[in-house]
Amino acid sequence: MKKNKINRLIGAHMSIAGGPYKAFERGEVVGCTAIQIFTKSQSQWKARPLDDEEIAKFKEEQERTEIFAVAHAAYLPNLASPDNALWKKSFEAMVIEMERCDMLGLPYLIFHPGSHTEDTRENGIERVARSLRELYEAENFEVALTLETTAGQGTNLGSSFEELAEIIEKSGVSEKLKVCYDTCHTFAAGYDIRTEETYEKTWGKFDKTIGRERLVAVHLNDSKYELGKRRDRHEHIGEGSIGLDGFRNIMNDKKLIKIPMILETPKGKKTRDGSDIEMDPVNIEKLLDLIED
Ligand code: MN
Ligand code: MN
Ligand code: ZN
Repeated sequence: MKKNKINRLIGAHMSIAGGPYKAFERGEVVGCTAIQIFTKSQSQWKARPLDDEEIAKFKEEQERTEIFAVAHAAYLPNLASPDNALWKKSFEAMVIEMERCDMLGLPYLIFHPGSHTEDTRENGIERVARSLRELYEAENFEVALTLETTAGQGTNLGSSFEELAEIIEKSGVSEKLKVCYDTCHTFAAGYDIRTEETYEKTWGKFDKTIGRERLVAVHLNDSKYELGKRRDRHEHIGEGSIGLDGFRNIMNDKKLIKIPMILETPKGKKTRDGSDIEMDPVNIEKLLDLIED
């Protein structure tokens, strides 16, 4: 790794198997200066509470490795759900996640706004906005709920900058909320970044509708599908439809230099001779190599 280029916050989503503190060592091994974690099992609604020892270990490991960390919520909660029982379960799950972020000192909880399912889009937006307000009314949370740009599959909300801005505005707690830009999702939703011209146009729109001050993280994923296909399938950097030119624009954007960048690309890969290679360091190296001095 080039030492002069690693004064960036860059890394990948890391497993918390064995305890959240384990994620730092995993990140350290593959050269991360920033990581993303789930705060609990992403396939379960509830979690055994964190004990003091686990929290202390987490903070110790973060201090030792000097790795910046953000959290990603589980995929189960749907704050836009018109089904009251499911909405309540989702709300309670988000409370648990926010509590865990505060205990671990994680500043941002990235989440997908939700799906309106059989109800109208407008009602879905209202429901998410109200949920965000009620979450901050429930407890005096420190963590900033961070809405992720989505690909717009099915009835998912949040695939346009306007829709995210609408949710934020209607929540009434806009001063608490942040945004994460996912390169695969936005590309799938029709925002191009492959040429200098399209790159400027896309970020110009972002600044105008959402506002740059709201951006706290970027997810770096190439896309398996073409522009605007609304399919959420991540690909290794430079091996998808965005390609290296798009990521070169990202890596050389002065306005993004201090923003944590997190890979959510597939972990492993088989080489031609059938052996396994770990792809996170390969993708990180590829991204750092795009930086022009
Ligand atoms: Mn996500
Ligand atoms: Mn993402
Ligand atoms: Zn995705």
